[in-house]
Amino acid sequence: MATGKVYLVGAGPGDPKLITVRGLEALQRSDAIVYDRLAAPQLLQHAPPHARVFYVGKRPERHTMKQEDINRLLVELALEGYTVTRLKGGDPTVFGRGGEEAEALRRHGIPYEIVPGVTSAIAVPAYAGIPVTHRELSSSFLVLTGHERPDKLDSMIRWDRVANATGTLVLLMGVSHIDHICRRLMEHGRTPDTPVALVRWGTRAEQRTLAGTLADIAQKVRDSDFKPPAVIIVGDVVRQRETLSWYERKPLFGRRVLITRARAQAAELSARIDELGGEPYEYPVIETRMKVSAEQEIRAALSQAEAYDWVILTSVNGVDYFFRWLVTCGVDVRRFHRARFAAVGPKTADALKARGVVPDVLPDRSQGYQAEGLFAAFGDALRPGQRALLPRGDLARDWLPEALRRHGVETVEADIYETVPVAPRDDRLIEWLEQGRIHMVTFTSPSTVLHLIGALAQLGAADPVGLLRQADIACIGSVTAETAISCGLDVGVVAEPSTIDGLVEGIVNYYANKG
Ligand code: SAH
Repeated sequence: MATGKVYLVGAGPGDPKLITVRGLEALQRSDAIVYDRLAAPQLLQHAPPHARVFYVGKRPERHTMKQEDINRLLVELALEGYTVTRLKGGDPTVFGRGGEEAEALRRHGIPYEIVPGVTSAIAVPAYAGIPVTHRELSSSFLVLTGHERPDKLDSMIRWDRVANATGTLVLLMGVSHIDHICRRLMEHGRTPDTPVALVRWGTRAEQRTLAGTLADIAQKVRDSDFKPPAVIIVGDVVRQRETLSWYERKPLFGRRVLITRARAQAAELSARIDELGGEPYEYPVIETRMKVSAEQEIRAALSQAEAYDWVILTSVNGVDYFFRWLVTCGVDVRRFHRARFAAVGPKTADALKARGVVPDVLPDRSQGYQAEGLFAAFGDALRPGQRALLPRGDLARDWLPEALRRHGVETVEADIYETVPVAPRDDRLIEWLEQGRIHMVTFTSPSTVLHLIGALAQLGAADPVGLLRQADIACIGSVTAETAISCGLDVGVVAEPSTIDGLVEGIVNYYANKG
């Protein structure tokens, strides 16, 4: 078998969007991913489904995998012919031992590439509002490791040269030796009132900043039990955070929000949460798929393409699956030449336009983008005796077909896709719910409530409802909220209007009131 290749990829500091385009591409075409603690686990969802995934970071119950063992794993995977992404927090060559891994690969003649990443040394201060350089305050910065024991640190670092060498010092892995580090810097001439900040879990929902001076920061770290991982920044630039802090001021900063809707529909909600400074956590508990069990009926409905006066689409999914079924059944869209097309709202209309079909009927905002609004939007164009095709999902409401029939329209409903429960593998979800690290759980339909409870049970939770009660609950619309309440959950946010915008607004207001 041909030898594979290894990409040593910087994953960025934690926010999964801070990976590079090249890094993402490597991930998307890898057969094996080897990642550790500081690489954002959300990135794994970009790996192909067949990819093998290896965690080589710290685990509370186990020892960290030794560097030689990691090197050996990379070599073995590549020799087996795999394309491998070695995903490392920040940049792979900044205290990431990327160099050692590259050497091991070179020794075995394995091709590799280094894909640089956004290092925490710069990005974490930036997310706390601290620029590492500044025209007036600091014209250079130095990045140091504070990892070793104090005596070893003293032999590695020339404190006399370092203390005043640059305006800004950035220390990684230094929290447990903060006392020693501050003392040495002051002994070698850095003034005790020099500003210092520690930023823990930067760029993630857990980001916390602690600020002080060389003289008092060590005491503050002890008093507040401030834990690693953190970046330490020393120098006048630290004061900038008082004016430049931006991430920590966002309305959903620090809130991790679980999104349970189907992966294909999660993107919009995720993007909104992210924009507002929250951290979306996607755990889809439903999935849509072609309703193959209804193939006979669907074939029959599509075979009469020429007979329809209307094709009525009530969701983006509906459009996607409609065209997939046309392909499956070998029906050319031009056979619908008599039909006019109606779309429930602008998103559905865009999905149609993307396929070259401009809808004839579309409700305006005041009519509302649901069945009722769509029905009103037909106006005089809808007449008794016409024939309509209504391709849709198996969970759609009956309101529209009933209204059409009452109006005398001969209506053919085709359930072209179905919603099925899924329980994706997830190593963190239960633990994070237990630890209160998921702050808000969102439900966008009654089925998401029932299926999340089911999925948690499948993942091994003894008391799924009890687990969910650790978090705040937000529901789209009253029907979903009633389902949640009947399952024993307390609902903090009920979105009205029942749209994604309404849900996001409800969550923002909830936390604004909570303070
Ligand atoms: N290669 C990484 C650094 C690895 S050393 C990089 O370029 O960022 C590990 C140290 O990096 C941690 O102990 C901590 O000091 C720092 N670090 C990495 N990610 C961090 C984050 N999100 N928040 C705070 N510190 C972080």
